[in-house]
Amino acid sequence: MSLTRRTFLKSAVTGGAAASVLGFNLESARAQARGLKIDRTTETRSICPYCAVSCGVIIHTLGDGAANVDPTVVHVEGDPDSPVNRGALCPKGVTLRQFIVNDRRLTRPLYRAPGSNAWTEMEWDEAIDRMARLIKDTRDGGFEETDGAGRRVNRLTNTAMIGGCTDTNEINYLLGKLRFGLGIVPFENQARL
Ligand code: SF4
Repeated sequence: MSLTRRTFLKSAVTGGAAASVLGFNLESARAQARGLKIDRTTETRSICPYCAVSCGVIIHTLGDGAANVDPTVVHVEGDPDSPVNRGALCPKGVTLRQFIVNDRRLTRPLYRAPGSNAWTEMEWDEAIDRMARLIKDTRDGGFEETDGAGRRVNRLTNTAMIGGCTDTNEINYLLGKLRFGLGIVPFENQARL
């Protein structure tokens, strides 16, 4: 095909035609440019941790799952299938990605010794062992089988339990089991269990 000045200008205006006239196929480049940033992400359903409304969210993570690749959260949006929020998020909820991808986020337990004003990092195993030890010792020292009138109460009032807004039904079920197993009376949860 001969390329006159007129056909060249006409093709330049129509874009795609120009590409074909010059022998280029721009379709794949256009398709790439039109792609969304969540095209190749893995979707994970979760719950917004900020308040007791507990809106459903979808977390989009980029990464191919290889051992030497750190998955990166690139987008968080409301879950349209959640009966709580039906895809909507409040201004706090839409900032969730900044909460997840944040170099100031704590990822290990911090310990402050009695009387100290400094926090030090602790290994998870050490922290869990310490908590278990303290809970056991506190329960052994405070468990009441009967009250002052001799009535059986099997209760623990020197330990309290609190729950958070991200606790799912399943977590709350397990917390309930733990609480009743220990005999804990003081209990507070945003779900008002
Ligand atoms: S998106 Fe807003 S309203 Fe929903 S749980 Fe998060 S903070 Fe609460």
